[in-house]
Amino acid sequence: MTEQHHTLTERMRILAQGTKYDSCNQSAVCHAFGPDGRCIQLYKTLLTNSCAGECAYCPNRSARDTVRATLTPAEIVKITWSFYRKNAIEGLFLSSGIIGDAENTAEKQLEVAKLLRSQGFTGYIHTRLMPGTPKYLLEEIAEHSNKFGVNAETTSSVNYSEICPNFDYNNDILTRLKWTRDLIKKQRRKVGYGGRIVGANDTQFVVGAVNEPDSEIISTVHKFMDRYALRRPYFMSFDPVPDTPLQNSIASPKWRENRLYQASFLMKDYGMKASDFDVIFNDEGFLADDDPKMRLAYAHPDYFPMDINTATRDELLMVPGIGPISVNRIMQARPILSEQELARMGVVISRARPFIEINGSKQTNLYSFMEVGS
Ligand code: SF4
Repeated sequence: MTEQHHTLTERMRILAQGTKYDSCNQSAVCHAFGPDGRCIQLYKTLLTNSCAGECAYCPNRSARDTVRATLTPAEIVKITWSFYRKNAIEGLFLSSGIIGDAENTAEKQLEVAKLLRSQGFTGYIHTRLMPGTPKYLLEEIAEHSNKFGVNAETTSSVNYSEICPNFDYNNDILTRLKWTRDLIKKQRRKVGYGGRIVGANDTQFVVGAVNEPDSEIISTVHKFMDRYALRRPYFMSFDPVPDTPLQNSIASPKWRENRLYQASFLMKDYGMKASDFDVIFNDEGFLADDDPKMRLAYAHPDYFPMDINTATRDELLMVPGIGPISVNRIMQARPILSEQELARMGVVISRARPFIEINGSKQTNLYSFMEVGS
C-alpha cells in the first residue's frame, strides 16, 4: 500500500505499533533496560515501516498490504525533545524498516543521533542497527549512541535464510555483532564519553518463527555471550501476522519467552553454561513452563540440602530463592544463625527452605517438598 498523507500523530502511532518486533510493547513510550540494569523509559519508534526486506514473520515486509508511514529525522528529533523536556522519557530507541538498503537507512539513523547530540541532548540513545550496516556508519553511530546492536532473530544461517531471505546470517548479522563488540570495548576505554554510559552488546531472537528448540536458542545465547560479549538477549514470541508467509503457523506461547529470559539470566548472572540445562529439556529440547532454576534443583537432589554456612559461592547460587546479591551478603555475614537473617538479606525463604540447612538443621526435606510441589 502506498504511503498516505497522515498527520504527525497518526504517523507516530503507526510507527510505534511497527516496533512490535523490537522487544517492546506498542506504545510510543516504553520501558527498556540500560547497561547498568536500570529500567529506563524511551521513546520508541521506527523511522519508517516501509521496508525493502521480506522477513516472513514481519508486518512491515515489503510485499504486505498495510498502511505505511515515515518520520523524517528532524521530526523524530523534535518529538524526542518534546517528550524529554516533559520528563516523559530518558531517551530514544530508534529502529527502522530498510529504506532502499542498509547504508541509506543507517545514514538516516545517524542523522537523528547527530542532530540530537548537536542540540545538546544528553539522554540515552539506543540505535537498532540494520542487518548489513556498513562499518564506517556503525563506527559513527557508536560515537553518538549509548547502545547499538543488530537482531540475530534465530540460531543459524539455515534458519535465518528461511525467515529473512534478503540477508546473510554470517555476514550481515554475526560480523556486525563482532564489530559492535569491538566498538563497545573501544568506547568504554574513552574517558568520559560525554558523561554517557556506553552499553553492552544486545540482540533479539524471534522465538518460534522457525522450529529451533530452546536447547538451540540457549546454546546460541551462551555462544554469543562468549564470542560477542552479548550482555542482553531479548526474546520476542512469534505471533502469526495476517498476509505473511507464516500467517497459518502456530503462535509461540508467551511463557516460552519468559522461561528463555530466566535461562539467559542464569547464564549471565549465575555463570551457568548452556550444557547445564541439558537435564531439564524434554526429548525435543524444549523447556517446561516452570522456573528453570527450580527444575535444575529438582534434577540434582544429591546436591541438597546444603549448609548455608559451609557451601561455596557457586553452590549457594544453585539454591532457588538465592540470587547473586543475597549470596554476596551471606558470604560476608556468615555464620548465619536463622532464616530470619537470610530473609533480611533478600533470600526468598519459601523457595529456598527445602534446599538449605543452617548449621545442620533444616525445617523440611526436599522429597516432602517435591511431593507437595509436583
Ligand atoms: S528488515 Fe525484516 S524484520 Fe526488519 S522491518 Fe524489514 S521485513 Fe521487517
